[in-house]
Formats: sequence, C-alpha cells, structure tokens
Amino acid sequence: MNKLAINGGTAVRTQPFPEWPHWDELEEKLILEVVRSGKWGGTGRIKLQELEEKFAALQNAKYGITVVNGTIAITIALMAAGVESGDEVIMPPYTFIATATSALMFGAIPVFVDVERDTLLLDPEKVEAAITPRTKAIVAVHIAGSPANMTRLKEIADKHQLKLIEDSAQAVGAEWEGTPVGAIGDAGTFSFQSSKNINAGEGGIILTNDETIANRAWSLVNVGRVRNGGWYQHEEIGWNLRMTEFQAAILLAQMTRLDEQMRKRESNSRILTELLADIDGVSVMNRDARITRHAHHLYLFRIASGITKDEKSEVVKKFHAEGIPVSPGYVSLNRNKAIIRSIQKWSGKERHDFCPISEAAESEVFWLPHHVLLADEKDMTDIADAVKKVISAY
Ligand SMILES: *Cc1c(COP(=O)(O)O)cnc(C)c1O
Repeated sequence: MNKLAINGGTAVRTQPFPEWPHWDELEEKLILEVVRSGKWGGTGRIKLQELEEKFAALQNAKYGITVVNGTIAITIALMAAGVESGDEVIMPPYTFIATATSALMFGAIPVFVDVERDTLLLDPEKVEAAITPRTKAIVAVHIAGSPANMTRLKEIADKHQLKLIEDSAQAVGAEWEGTPVGAIGDAGTFSFQSSKNINAGEGGIILTNDETIANRAWSLVNVGRVRNGGWYQHEEIGWNLRMTEFQAAILLAQMTRLDEQMRKRESNSRILTELLADIDGVSVMNRDARITRHAHHLYLFRIASGITKDEKSEVVKKFHAEGIPVSPGYVSLNRNKAIIRSIQKWSGKERHDFCPISEAAESEVFWLPHHVLLADEKDMTDIADAVKKVISAY
C-alpha cells in the first residue's frame, strides 16, 4: 500500500466533504418573518405551533412540546412520565452523556445495561436482569439513527409496568416496522443541536400520544402553569424551558429537506457498506429487517484488528490526514467517573455496571458524521480506500 498521508504520503482525498448544516433563502425568509412579527419568545407561538404540529405528524405522535434542548427534553419526558428522584432508569451505556445526565439532573439513577455487539443498541435480553423494585423506566436510545428493538422493549416494559422513553436525538425520520420512532413508547425526545439531522443550533422536542404526559410536560416547561389556565396560575413546580420562535422558523425550513437528504444518506450508506464488506477485519453494524427507515445520523464501523484504546486517537489522526473525518466515538458511560460519582451521590451506593461490549466499542468502533453521506456516490470509494490504507498498518 502507498505511504500514509500522516507520514508524508499522498492523501486519499483533498476535497472536503459537504459541510453541515445546509440552508438557503427559505431559512432567511422565515427568520425575517419572525423578526417582523415582534413575537420572538416561546409564548408568541406562531411558528412554534406550526412546528409542533408538523414535527409530531412527521413522527406519528399526537402531541409535541418544544423545549430548549434535547437533554432537557429527556429530563422532562422522564419527569412527566412519573419518574422521581431515587428511581432507577435502565439505559444503554453506549450513548451521548446527556442520556444519563438528563436523569441525574433530578436524582433519578441511571442503570446501565449492555448493548448488542452487532448493533450497539440496548440489548433487550439483558434488561430484565437489571430490573429492581426501584426501576421506573427504560430509555431506549436509537443510536446513530438506528431504531432499537422496540417490539421486545415494549413487551418487557409492559410486563413490568415500566415507562418506555425513546431518546431519538439521532433518529429524526427513522421507523421501526413502518412506525416512526418517538411515540412508540410512552414518550420520545429529539434534539435540534447543531450536529443533528434537523437543527436550529439548539432545541429539542418531546413527543407522546398520552394526553396526561403531554399536559404534565407542557406544565413543567411552562413554569408550572396549567395548559389553558391563568397566566399566574402555577399548580406545580416548573421552569421556563421554552424554545423561541427563531428556532422554530429555522426548523420548519430544515424539515423541508429531510426526505431528500434521508434518501441520499440511505443510498450512500448502502454503497459504503458494500465497499467496506470487501475489507478484511472491517465490519459494519447489523441492520434489523424491521428497521424500515434508518436516520443515518452516524455511520458506525468496527475495525477488529487489535487496535487498543490508546492507539485509537492515532488511528483517527491517520484518517484525518487522509481527508476522512472519522470520529473515535463514545467512552462507555458506565466507566465515566463523573457519572459514577453522581450516581453515588444520589443513591448513596457505589455502582459499577458490567458492560463489556460497550467498553470494547471504545477501541473497536469508529464513526463518520451524517453529512459525509450527503456527498456523491463516488466519494464513498475514498472512504473505503482510506480504511484499507489505514488498517494495513495494523
Ligand atoms: C445530542 C444528543 C442528546 C442531547 O441533545 P442536546 O440537544 O445536545 O441537549 C441526547 N441524547 C443523544 C443520543 C444525543 O445524540
């Protein structure tokens, strides 16, 4: 193989991949409408109303409540579903830290259950063993935009009378057996942070089909007010966690491009998967046939050639030198010291969950961001060529 770019060789690729986000005159027009309306906050509710309706319809949910970000969306969904301080919440450790910190925000205790090796999604068959009398909810995370096994998780949640919350921050547009994610369980949450497939810089939404959860969530986000009640009628403790009209305007524009972008990511990810299948020592995640639409927020691949955690950052640098924006991915949350300390603080107990598959992913699994999949078909070849070149050194 030719010399690595990091050692002075020629890079596989010098052209940058498409940047994120995409926008055009539509965002500019809608933002200007908000400026000129003079209704800028979360109580003016012109664009926010339209966004909540359109986004809930997109994900097949009855109710949508916009909030400041995706982390708070999970916190509020848990609280609205009845989870309280001291209750245990089962979740996967291979996720963004916010899945856990959203529970720890109010003293609910994350219990980490390992992921499946071939999908890196919460393993339903390991969930039951982790249920205790304190367990109140399961948070399924649709990591990388790939829906978790909602059929099994719903069965288990129903059997044990647990609430099922979907952290769908990475899964806008995804579907499990033909049903959009977000309201398959009791409630679901999305993030509109800059990196996400639909974004307004920051923002989030809670979806549900349950009217009680919807009203409770609305109240928590609106300083404890009662929906359709008086302005100074506060019947529980809540906070101002509202999104602004500016964010709603941007999101309405971003949504118009979702279908086309999803088609492109889907076709490029299939091409890339075929190309990577030919490389020894490289594998991609298994896609359950029941995933009828994948959001491809991240493209995950595994290099099983004995790269250690310490060597990983060096491998990532080699990819960057070849012009491929590979990311090293998560540190398994069950090993995060801040999380372990916070669990101890809230529960009074030291706990170390055993999640060997998630921990192994720290060294084996690499990601590509979704906008790489918005490049041309021929650009997928560059990625495969770089993978071949970089792993030949191991
Ligand atoms: C982005 C993300 C969040 C948090 O969303 P913010 O809007 O950044 O607060 C939560 N969970 C997952 C899986 C995410 O990817």
